[in-house]
Amino acid sequence: MPLSAYAPCFLCPRQCGADRLAGKTGVCGETAQLRIASHGPHMGEEPPFTGTRGSGTIFFCGCSTHCFFCQNWQISNIGSPGRTLTADDFHGIAVRLIRLGVHNLNFVTPDHFWPHIRELCVRLRAENHTIPFLFNSSGYHLPAMIPKYAEHMDIFMPDFKFSDPALAKDVIRDERYPALALESLRLMVAAKGFLDPFDPTGRQPARQGVLVRHLVLPGHVQNTLDLLSLLRDEFGARLPLSLMSQYSPVPATRNRPPFHRHLTAGEYQTTLDHAQRLGFQNLLIQPISIHSDFLPDFNKPKPFKGNP
Ligand code: SF4
Repeated sequence: MPLSAYAPCFLCPRQCGADRLAGKTGVCGETAQLRIASHGPHMGEEPPFTGTRGSGTIFFCGCSTHCFFCQNWQISNIGSPGRTLTADDFHGIAVRLIRLGVHNLNFVTPDHFWPHIRELCVRLRAENHTIPFLFNSSGYHLPAMIPKYAEHMDIFMPDFKFSDPALAKDVIRDERYPALALESLRLMVAAKGFLDPFDPTGRQPARQGVLVRHLVLPGHVQNTLDLLSLLRDEFGARLPLSLMSQYSPVPATRNRPPFHRHLTAGEYQTTLDHAQRLGFQNLLIQPISIHSDFLPDFNKPKPFKGNP
């Protein structure tokens, strides 16, 4: 997909048609100038991706999903600070990460910069780099794009945020999210299968496949219970799943209860009990986190605590 796909741009479900090559910004907040907020080895991804040497994350500025509780709100907001890159800069960053020994190149919120990412992936493979490419996304996709991503990506790690269309409408202003995320996930699993290997210790980092992420939301346990049942029905109990407790309130949630608080231990336990009842075999869980340890600070040179 050449860079002309930015003009007009219909890369995501917002279908806003902005002429990004002419300098216009779409709903995602970005023109056709590639901008990243952060990059580096990340030790805080799920163990199959972090492994022992880290995941080579590249965080892009902007986002088309716009959850009001976004945990990366500093970089997903329109007008967020970031660094503009040429294709050669982008390639240089990727090669430096590979030379550091990371286990994968992890493209975080990649949809709206797909033409640039695709170009990079083609170039790296032509140079015989075999490192897995990881598509780390919000789950809010155009299903028609998934086969195009799958041509170049090895691993998909989509969120599945909402099973409840009304909740999706409230949070991202699009009640189609559950249907779009499900159809996209079907296509990802059909293209790549389940995560392989799935090693919760991280000693054997993943090379290919799909793992689904779900962040349990305060006051919305039923959203999670319904999602778990849906995933079990659709994909079976072997679907690799990361059930996350790390929700932290951000400034935009101050007046939006129940999103203004952390998840309680009881809420998380209810979801774990349901996952266990459904028999999920490849489940990654977290301790209940009452602090903001997982919230990155993109104003710092190292946004994630504990990273090298
Ligand atoms: S990627 Fe951005 S510009 Fe393109 S359709 Fe989506 S929101 Fe609009």
